[in-house]
Amino acid sequence: MDKPSATLLQLLHPKIRQSALDAFSEVEQALTGKARCRVTSTLRTFDEQAKLYAQGRTTKGAIVTNAKPGQSFHNFGLALDFALIVDTDGNGTFETTSWNTTKDYDADLVADWTEVVKIFKNHGFAWGGDWRSFKDLPHVEKNCGHTLTQLLALHKAGKVDKMGYVLL
Ligand SMILES: [Zn+2]
Repeated sequence: MDKPSATLLQLLHPKIRQSALDAFSEVEQALTGKARCRVTSTLRTFDEQAKLYAQGRTTKGAIVTNAKPGQSFHNFGLALDFALIVDTDGNGTFETTSWNTTKDYDADLVADWTEVVKIFKNHGFAWGGDWRSFKDLPHVEKNCGHTLTQLLALHKAGKVDKMGYVLL
């Protein structure tokens, strides 16, 4: 399994970790061309989310999120972002990161991005590309039947395991 992806997948909430690993393994089997899938983000702690939210508001840089700490499923380890990595020059190094959602690198008549999305959906994940208002194409999440409000309440009430994951 792709090392950086494997490391990030281990940070997911224990309740969804195995299904994400299963889905990702399936993705690795499915993409047979010069593109592979890489997980780029999973758990984002409340501190990390606070820093990200501050960017473009109270610190330098462009605004990258509208979510405050506790307003993203990433903050509970229940979401992951992915991209494609592409071996553009064919030397086996996968040096290019791509967010191209339409390209069919493995010529199986389904865009590689769509293949990834389909597999995660089969494993019970919801895709950010299906959202009505703000489409988040590299994002999948599994809320385990909980809203963000409920998750935040659990977090605030200290209903977390020793690693800090809310008890679901
Ligand atoms: Zn995301």
